[in-house]
Amino acid sequence: MNIHEYQAKELFAAYGVPVSKGVAVQSEDAFDDALNQFPDEGMIVVKSQIHAGGRGKGTFTDGFQGGVKLANSKSEAREIASKMLGNTLVTHQTGTAGRKVQTIYFTAAESISHEYYLAILMDRDTSKPVIIASTEGGVDIEQVAENTPGKITKVFVDPTLGLQPYQIREVAFGLGLSGGAFKDMGKTLKGLYDFFWQKDASMVEVNPLIVTEEGKVVALDAKVGFDDNALFRHADIQELRDLNEEDDKEIEAAKFSLSYIALDGNIACLVNGAGLAMSTMDIIKHFGGDPANFLDVGGGANAEQVTAAFKIILSDPKVKGILVNIFGGIMKCDIIAEGIIEAAKKVEITVPLVVRLEGTNVELGKQLLTESGLDLVSADSLSDAAEKIVNLVKHA
Ligand code: GDP
Ligand code: MG
Repeated sequence: MNIHEYQAKELFAAYGVPVSKGVAVQSEDAFDDALNQFPDEGMIVVKSQIHAGGRGKGTFTDGFQGGVKLANSKSEAREIASKMLGNTLVTHQTGTAGRKVQTIYFTAAESISHEYYLAILMDRDTSKPVIIASTEGGVDIEQVAENTPGKITKVFVDPTLGLQPYQIREVAFGLGLSGGAFKDMGKTLKGLYDFFWQKDASMVEVNPLIVTEEGKVVALDAKVGFDDNALFRHADIQELRDLNEEDDKEIEAAKFSLSYIALDGNIACLVNGAGLAMSTMDIIKHFGGDPANFLDVGGGANAEQVTAAFKIILSDPKVKGILVNIFGGIMKCDIIAEGIIEAAKKVEITVPLVVRLEGTNVELGKQLLTESGLDLVSADSLSDAAEKIVNLVKHA
């Protein structure tokens, strides 16, 4: 689960990580009250809140440039904010559809002396949190990694020991800091690491983390994601969920404990088991098709879940065909067949449907499907099934 910059910064502040003063608003009526909380003099940054980076260089669908802008006065900040709120921002991370801006964050502008990059992630190769720091902040870290990898410091933290003082110094030295900024960076890194660890974050990225002209360290941006499997122990974090930022179909799927991820293709897959779901998607690709989703109904799906799965799949207008691929192990094929028949009674299946069943009670399952009179194509193997659905969709 991801959260907005303004929410992340409130959490940062609780961990002693310095952030600029900021106020978040959801409606134009609230602009004046928000802006009155800033001093009359001084610049204000107007920041679109969406769950994607690259906002500063983004463009709104009506042509307005920049999802993060500096304003010289409150009236200018107000004018910029009213152009952003409700508008759709496209950045290199949103895809072409962009994201509708439903919250504006006003912050007191800092004077930047230098922009750094700092992130903490879970490194899957070493199974350790890794701190990534660079003197090249404010730009795409992927580009820095490719062009000047020497400018990136990586420090791996042993989870049983926690972040050690020598590691904090290693990062601050790596950023070429000294004096007050060196000390402040140490405190900031410690705060960010404690936050990352205690809240079960999967990613904390601050780009840029700045040193101001006055020599202060400030987290100017904040991108934070949490491990969904650990959310149950963080009620405070769960409250920060913004469903506006999530796919409707994925929200619905979560209600029925289905693992569903929307993709760009047109062949929907309904599969049991994540491994089988992956191979089903691969083999659809192999035969020249494109999967519309990843959908794992799990090992013990019931008719209600299968019905919900069909509803979700069919609510996607991109879907031009469905491939059901079930291996009956713990789950019996006749139960799945009943689920499909039950689902077809409740939701009209308007696109070609190919079903491949294998495993326990497969004959009974196939018999039930044949007797149901449902308009479907049976397949005998995974490749047979994939080839059939790809052809049906191509010639539909
Ligand atoms: P992003 O484009 O989504 O990464 O949004 P950021 O929050 O990183 O803002 C984009 C850029 O705006 C930053 O890299 C800074 O260069 C600039 N910026 C943001 N806040 C301030 C500020 O308080 N003062 C100044 N001078 N620039 C800022
Ligand atoms: Mg940024």
